[in-house]
Amino acid sequence: MQRRVLLRIMMAAVLGSCGIKEQSAKGLKITVVGAGIVGASIAWHLARAGALVTIIDAIGPASHASRGTFAWINASWAKQPRHYHALSQEGVSGWGSLQEELSLPIRWGGSLEWFSNPERDRKLLDQIAEQVDWGESARMVNADELAVMEPNVNFHGALLAAFSGNDGAIDPVRATNALLDAAVNMGAVLRTPCKLLDISLSGNRLHSVETSLGTIPADRVVLATGADPATPKIIAGVDVPQRSTPGIIAITAPMPKLLNRIIVASGIHLHQREDGRIVMGEQDGAPDDQAHDMRLEGRPNTFPSPDMAVQHAARMLSIATKYVPGMAGVNVDDVFIGWRPLPLDGHPVLGFSPERRDVYLAIMHSGVTLAPIAGQLTAHEVINDIVVERLEAFRPGRDFETVKRY
Ligand SMILES: Cc1cc2nc3c(=O)[nH]c(=O)nc-3n(C[C@H](O)[C@H](O)[C@H](O)COP(=O)(O)OP(=O)(O)OC[C@H]3O[C@@H](n4cnc5c(N)ncnc54)[C@H](O)[C@@H]3O)c2cc1C
Repeated sequence: MQRRVLLRIMMAAVLGSCGIKEQSAKGLKITVVGAGIVGASIAWHLARAGALVTIIDAIGPASHASRGTFAWINASWAKQPRHYHALSQEGVSGWGSLQEELSLPIRWGGSLEWFSNPERDRKLLDQIAEQVDWGESARMVNADELAVMEPNVNFHGALLAAFSGNDGAIDPVRATNALLDAAVNMGAVLRTPCKLLDISLSGNRLHSVETSLGTIPADRVVLATGADPATPKIIAGVDVPQRSTPGIIAITAPMPKLLNRIIVASGIHLHQREDGRIVMGEQDGAPDDQAHDMRLEGRPNTFPSPDMAVQHAARMLSIATKYVPGMAGVNVDDVFIGWRPLPLDGHPVLGFSPERRDVYLAIMHSGVTLAPIAGQLTAHEVINDIVVERLEAFRPGRDFETVKRY
């Protein structure tokens, strides 16, 4: 049996065992704050279960990380330790189910990764062996295979690369909007621009949320507010320590098909979407100097001038062209600075606030990969007021250690 089919069956079993009871959702008023890909998935799962959902966003759908993301769906070697990797696997297989249900344009086909650094590439061999042990369809492929798999890519003499067969990539803005549309079709209300300002209690239970568009009655509120550090602190009384880092995403004009898979090369990540556009994600962060520190203050999503955006696009395109010569001369249509919602330990934050019992937090990196499973499990906990055991390691009240990983 193919691995993806097996994963789908496992996913169906997980969904079945969750058994969201529509009865318990009936009449339950839930406000989801944040219309990025995570909030959209949560809203859709809640609406599908029968809750009365209002989604609000201070700016609009997919306006922050869910726009400026590379959108690689994966459970790769970097997803450590095992329990986080397992959650990521559930995210990957969850996209398979969502793709069918919502007709989403996901490019499957796997990823190819290598480091152009002999020592690092040797370590990759061990990491891929571990991936196999953990149930991934991963293997090392040699130069001859690489040439067949990606005839338009120059691997610069790499003898081996890691092929992770389950990986895919998505258009995150389309996916977010598709989830929101599906939620609205099930009765959810989407209100933007609408900023959450405060909550009102009746006794010790949530009564309503106060927003820039007025009061919204609510029994529960879910904060899917991404990298914004303030909202969880003010509303949930929880300080989720984040080390949000910026990353530039540049998207070309549509091109004839050049790439079959996600290319994870030294200095640049690339994938080609169904619409023919190639997405470039830079690997190195901004230089560590005062000029950049000043420019990045306030976490801008755009560059101070169009010229600067053009310069960054040209720099990324010149790296990309080294690997994919056919990209030479293509126009870059969009350049965006994304800020990673990145809890200090690199792991998602999922669970009710230890301080405010009706306020649930859903803040995470790799939120594109995790959106389906995060949406499903959040809806389950929020509606049924129960505890999903395998989320225990990801609670907001944990001690956050500093780890350098995404
Ligand atoms: C450069 C980059 C590359 C990435 N690459 C990948 C990848 O390849 N694979 C992967 O899985 N993940 C990747 N990620 C991470 C992923 O994009 C994020 O984890 C995901 O988009 C988070 O989605 P979200 O909905 O939680 O947050 P966001 O998309 O940031 O949405 C949060 C929303 O909350 C709203 N908000 C905040 N506060 C309030 C308030 N008080 N009131 C109302 N609204 C509010 C904001 O307006 C925003 O729209 C990447 C991220 C970046 C930046």
